[in-house]
Amino acid sequence: MTGTRVRFEAMWADLHPIGRSPATAGYRRFAWSDADLTCREWFTAEAVRRGLAVTVDRIGNQWAWWGDPDAGDAVVTGSHLDSVPDGGAFDGPLGVVSGFAAVDLLRERGVVPTRPLALVSFTDEEGARFGVPCAGSRLMTGDLDPDRARSLRDTDGATMADAMRGAGHDPVHLGRDDETLAGVGTFVELHVEQGRALVQGSAAVGVASGIRAHGRWRLDLHGRADHAGTTRLADRDDPMLRLAATVLAARESAERHAALATIGKVHVEPGGTNAIPSLVRAWLDARGENEADVRAVVAAVGAAAGAEPIEESWSPEVIFGQPLQDRIAGLLGGAPVLATGAGHDAGVLAGAGVPAAMLFVRNPTGVSHSPAEHADVDDCLAGIEALTTVIANLLTEPS
Ligand SMILES: [Zn+2]
Repeated sequence: MTGTRVRFEAMWADLHPIGRSPATAGYRRFAWSDADLTCREWFTAEAVRRGLAVTVDRIGNQWAWWGDPDAGDAVVTGSHLDSVPDGGAFDGPLGVVSGFAAVDLLRERGVVPTRPLALVSFTDEEGARFGVPCAGSRLMTGDLDPDRARSLRDTDGATMADAMRGAGHDPVHLGRDDETLAGVGTFVELHVEQGRALVQGSAAVGVASGIRAHGRWRLDLHGRADHAGTTRLADRDDPMLRLAATVLAARESAERHAALATIGKVHVEPGGTNAIPSLVRAWLDARGENEADVRAVVAAVGAAAGAEPIEESWSPEVIFGQPLQDRIAGLLGGAPVLATGAGHDAGVLAGAGVPAAMLFVRNPTGVSHSPAEHADVDDCLAGIEALTTVIANLLTEPS
């Protein structure tokens, strides 16, 4: 394991400074930004160093191949390298780094694959820049319309198509990619845990049972801009008051439906301290055990806002296939099985009928999407060992 530790720490050190804000110590690796491009260069270099053939699909997802990409029925592992605003170091990169480390271990152990192995880095998983999470995998499965994707805009007004072109990727071929999809036999994504279920027990690695239903909605609350010092309270049409009521309604409704609701992003126009807003645009993230609970929360929020919530993305509840889940838990000596409220590319692929599974690595803080996100090196190494065991089994004993 010494070699793995050295290699893991070297890869981690290389990624450490990329897109890191000195002010917050958080990461800002937004899709197709300079930081993202540097991460993509890192991925290519690590693949080339191992003699893996690199391909980039029509969407822009990066693949590193051990074996023939055209042979089909590949075992695929990987995750993503982009981040939320001021994200942690582990969400995404841990799965990609672990994939490379697993390839090294498989070779050291003389595993001879009977099917191709690929490591994928999905583009734009967080949707931090253009608003739609898992855009790379959703475009691949056809879950995200290519025309809609190309015209999504970031806060500076740049479209996804502009951003792709600026980064040297032609956006003209976006859309469901049956050829790439057909080559994926099984997908296993390793991810840092985003919660504290594993902290309660003794296992460093768990297996995902499923992903709860979740989505994102935009609310446009219109009012009338006016002077903060001369407009009587009775004469105001201030949409910020409706936002306040909406935030409270979101919380109250989430509690009632045992769901989660978050308003974490707000845009105000004209955005002056001494001006009553003409527009408050807010984004709701809502998640729950099932679709009905989430829809009930969204309806309550819409009623409080007096505006129709505009759906920007929707991910139905995902239950990972039981046979693969059981097989992996068995291989890992009865690893704990847990559900998550966080979306992942593995969930998108499972929704498209690809046998998919996830491994979670213990996170002592339980915090994610924040610089406080953490996993101990020993637990990361346990994750790599678990991933290697699972891949070796899938490579040599197809179901
Ligand atoms: Zn992630």
